Amino acid sequence: MLKIEKMTLGPVVTNCFVIADDDCDDCVVIDPAWDATEILGRVSARGWQPRAIWLTHAHFDHFGGVAGIMQQHPGLPLGLHRLDLPMYRVGGGAQAWGIPVDCSHEPTLWWEQTESVRLGRFQFSVMFVPGHSPGHVAFYHAESDSLFGGDVLFQQGIGRTDLPGGDHAELLSSIRTHFLPLPEDTMVYCGHGDDTTIGVEKRANPFLV
Ligand SMILES: [Zn+2]
Ligand SMILES: [Zn+2]
Repeated sequence: MLKIEKMTLGPVVTNCFVIADDDCDDCVVIDPAWDATEILGRVSARGWQPRAIWLTHAHFDHFGGVAGIMQQHPGLPLGLHRLDLPMYRVGGGAQAWGIPVDCSHEPTLWWEQTESVRLGRFQFSVMFVPGHSPGHVAFYHAESDSLFGGDVLFQQGIGRTDLPGGDHAELLSSIRTHFLPLPEDTMVYCGHGDDTTIGVEKRANPFLV
């Protein structure tokens, strides 16, 4: 089955998800927010092998752990949408917070060229859901009803659109077009805060009613 480990890390309290196929022990780190040592410690405690890093978008609080992981696993594929590359290259907004972040590892896997991506036996759709950032994506695994949504939709909230490259109308359109049609039982693993479901947010999210 698809194993999901959630770790909440870093200065902006960001959720990092390590997901694994327990058959082959391959794992992927989605949004290594911060503390590479802690993330890799969890990975090795489970006996898993990292096969890729998938970024939902290029805000620094979602990639602060990339450099530390890449140092231990050189050549690990790093996925990002090209529209978020300019933001990645300037440190994902960390400057505004006065926080140093290492963005020297260039992405090697491009979401604008990738409709689906594989982890072991499992196939994930790569959904293009801009609005919070220009190149934001989400990863959807239909068989387990799991959606790794980054900063698009939160429990009772939606992503900010006041940061550079944000667009409120585009964000709402992404949510309505790609998220809300999913089965109501779909678990949404959010970039910040608690997990939720599509059904709950469809009915009670104040930004969507
Ligand atoms: Zn963000
Ligand atoms: Zn965030």
